[in-house]
Amino acid sequence: MPRHIVCLTFDFDTQSGFIARGMTTPTPLSRGEFGLTGARRILALLAERRIRATWFTPGFTIESHRQACEAVVEGGHEIAHHSWAHIPPANQSREDEEADLVRANDAIRRLTGRPARGYRSPSWDLSENTIDLLIKHGFIYDSSLMGADYWPYRARCGDVAVLGQPFRFGEETSLIEMPISWSLDDFPHFEFVRTATTVLPGLQPARAVMDSWLDEFLYMKKSVDWGILTYTMHPYVIGRGYRMLALEGLITRLANEGAVFMTMEDAAREAQQRMWGP
Ligand SMILES: [Zn+2]
Repeated sequence: MPRHIVCLTFDFDTQSGFIARGMTTPTPLSRGEFGLTGARRILALLAERRIRATWFTPGFTIESHRQACEAVVEGGHEIAHHSWAHIPPANQSREDEEADLVRANDAIRRLTGRPARGYRSPSWDLSENTIDLLIKHGFIYDSSLMGADYWPYRARCGDVAVLGQPFRFGEETSLIEMPISWSLDDFPHFEFVRTATTVLPGLQPARAVMDSWLDEFLYMKKSVDWGILTYTMHPYVIGRGYRMLALEGLITRLANEGAVFMTMEDAAREAQQRMWGP
């Protein structure tokens, strides 16, 4: 029997990403604050469709917006790790990265009663220490890499990439990589960001983006009997009204095409059983 899994994932950053980039004037902060409105809308939609999702939630959001995070837990969703302060690990020392990892996991434990099983790095940039630290702290999966699409794979330690030399793969670890892609992330499609040196135009028509996202699922159905497709969204991005309508439409069409909606933890456990055995 073919089986095609969809993980709806929400990076519940609120203001953390703006603060991490030094954007602490009132308007960028309010942009992150809108994530609280977006989260309420998303939770209502998921409840109506009886879908459990995964919320990658920074410790910052848990400690700043406790009630909003409790509502996610009460909705039956998975709370996964997304750092404390939304600083990309590639910019941190091993000590700083581990301290942030522990601090955020403590916040998750206080919220849910258990540590996180899954991790997604801020801005999807791992350090050379991240995989090792995740294994040390008991994680079963990461969702930050782009080396596959429909099939999870084993995250590696010690890849060697040196200019002018052939690439060398490092050792596979026990950590399950649940791959992602910027093409399946709402942020680059929708968010208008202007900095001193760059402009990210965003602001694409929401239904056109959802058409592409559905096509990705249809290609998975066509090309593999079993697979997992992960969509990444941010409540302050997807939570705008016209995008919510488009998301509702996408979920309806995915369901009509036979999508099985799961949390990422459950999907990772199914991948473990199916791909590598108990
Ligand atoms: Zn984030």
